[in-house]
Amino acid sequence: MSHFNTVIMVDWSGGNDRGPTPKKDAIWACVAGREPVYLRNRQVAEAWLCEQIEGAEGRVLAGFDFPFGYPKGFAGAVTGKADPLALWEWFEARIEDTPQGNNRFDLAGEINGMFPGIGPFWGNGRVKHDVAHLPRKGLARKGHGMPGKRACEDRAKGAFACWQMSGAGSVGGQVMMGLPVLTRLRARFGAAAWPFEPWRGADLALVEIWPSLIAADVAAAQRAGEIKDAAQVRVLAERVAALPEDDLAEMLDVTDPRACEEGWIFGLGHEGRLAGAALKPPPLRDDCFALPAGVDWTPVDEALDDLRARLRPVVARVEVPLAGALGRVLAEDVVARRSNPPQANTAVDGYGFAFDALGAGDQTLPLIEGRAAAGVPLEDTVPYGKAVRVLTGAALPDGVDTVILEEDVTLGEGAIAFREGVRRGANTRKAGEDVAAGEVALAAGRRVTPADLALAAAVGHGSLPVFERLRVGVLSTGDELVEPGAPAGAGRIYDANRVMLLGLLEEMGFAPVDMGRVGDDREALGARLDDASEKADVILTSGGASAGDEDHVSALLREAGAMSEWRIAIKPGRPLALGMWQGTPVFGLPGNPVAALVCTLVFARPAMGLMAGRGWLEPQAVELPAGFEKRKKPGRREFLRARMRGGAAEVFPSEGSGRISGLSWAEGLVELPDGAAQISPGDPVRFIPYESFR
Ligand code: AMP
Ligand code: MG
Repeated sequence: MSHFNTVIMVDWSGGNDRGPTPKKDAIWACVAGREPVYLRNRQVAEAWLCEQIEGAEGRVLAGFDFPFGYPKGFAGAVTGKADPLALWEWFEARIEDTPQGNNRFDLAGEINGMFPGIGPFWGNGRVKHDVAHLPRKGLARKGHGMPGKRACEDRAKGAFACWQMSGAGSVGGQVMMGLPVLTRLRARFGAAAWPFEPWRGADLALVEIWPSLIAADVAAAQRAGEIKDAAQVRVLAERVAALPEDDLAEMLDVTDPRACEEGWIFGLGHEGRLAGAALKPPPLRDDCFALPAGVDWTPVDEALDDLRARLRPVVARVEVPLAGALGRVLAEDVVARRSNPPQANTAVDGYGFAFDALGAGDQTLPLIEGRAAAGVPLEDTVPYGKAVRVLTGAALPDGVDTVILEEDVTLGEGAIAFREGVRRGANTRKAGEDVAAGEVALAAGRRVTPADLALAAAVGHGSLPVFERLRVGVLSTGDELVEPGAPAGAGRIYDANRVMLLGLLEEMGFAPVDMGRVGDDREALGARLDDASEKADVILTSGGASAGDEDHVSALLREAGAMSEWRIAIKPGRPLALGMWQGTPVFGLPGNPVAALVCTLVFARPAMGLMAGRGWLEPQAVELPAGFEKRKKPGRREFLRARMRGGAAEVFPSEGSGRISGLSWAEGLVELPDGAAQISPGDPVRFIPYESFR
């Protein structure tokens, strides 16, 4: 972004001094690439801004989250000129502002006095003190002749109008208390006030922003414990600074004719670019797998808790049409836009009428002409005491609240007869009885199923916000490995892990990236990891993860300074090498296929689930009677290759960790607890079907 060298974003406030401790709803500002700064009042903020602008190298773009103008006609009515910048100066000359208080309500009342009727400003923050000409309620206004909103606000869903001087979300106070500061910055630094003045080549451009444009991204990028205002300015500064030059220019070149008087919201209509530039959250920290020194064999649950605490989503969000959303992870809650069913309708083919019109005993009701069918509603109201033909799915006509099944009536000449005993509302579906508009239909983090697609469609969605698929690179290591199907000499073995891991990832809904094989050669391995860290969000390696001479994965990661050997008390398994390579997490799995599979299912899968935005994934298990006998020593958790037959869990006769045939024979795993166990046939054991690991 070479139009500007420094980006500063400011979340403004119209209130009084907020005290020394960082608080929400105060002024927060952030220079792109640095940490957000808390500014307790406007005086402090103005001084800070001057300091940043003076100290900045090159051209500065500074964004402020309040309107730079008022609806069309206001500037002219107040100053006699339809020039928004004359209005800025007008305010600058009249606003009195100290950390202790300001005259914004009085000035709003004074301005209202210049207009006919009541308004346009409303809202008085002082409970006990009435202000002349300033109504407390927006509805009390009339006849002032000003538009309710600016042109850009018609398009910015949820934006507040600048007439509101107090109450939740009031923007009016912020504008009045902000424009004088901007006026002084403009005078002092020769700034261009966007979009009123040309921004190209300006040393300082002041730009109106509205963080709600990328609210969802801010929420996704908010750090634990971070104040929302701080996250807003941090994320927005980062995003704007990351915009390609052409995108930025296009976003600054506003064409709406009303913008030159009313101002405009930067990025409006270009939300995708603003979000798209960096929808992707920042990478994980290099020390995210570090373990305290001297840790002995860590119990499985502790290792899992550790992973869970250190990882978070690393994938970007995108909006995809329903047809492309199957199997993807929802990035946001999906809220019903309309109810399902949208209106009351009939559940059967039959006859509809008003229940209250029925008398005691058997019934005869005259039929009216016409019928209601699905998608073809009856326009007329059904008269009280009459019935109408209705077909399944038809909206209930006015005057109908109950339907009788056609099989339960005798159809006569222009009338139906049926026995007593019909219930009120029988055979009807109420509007919203399934899902009401505004309810969360599908929760964020869910992997979209075919049924979810149906639900999303029914409640009014044609596309869904999902995460990009987590790209997982798979790399096999070892001099002994040969590509499947190729001739293999003595002492060589086929690379079995890679196809298995790629397949597992596919089933889990991640995007597998085949990174091939490398021999036991540190340089080649380093180069391949470089490549993988570009192409994938996570890397799974198998082999070479222990601490032996040929264990180059762990050696390399250790050299890079970002590896820990996780010695987990699990069988089958060897130490896992967890580390970071160029900002990409690496799971160094054992080479042995059985251990590689178990460690992937037990450790890598939930970790990848978190990184993919699915949240932490616990496999669903069932308790089955054991169909085997086993004695187990304490001190580590064991996973046995198992399957369910005749309602019991069978296990593979050999526990040999090279027995790939056992993996293939099995349909899941039996999980035995950390402690000692003596299992006899019929004892309950925990069986986790392979399907549960998806
Ligand atoms: P390592 O962890 O490199 O010591 O390997 C442990 C065992 O797993 C050795 O017998 C390796 O030959 C075997 N192994 C390593 N990688 C693979 C692979 N991709 N496919 C099948 N076996 C492997
Ligand atoms: Mg090896």
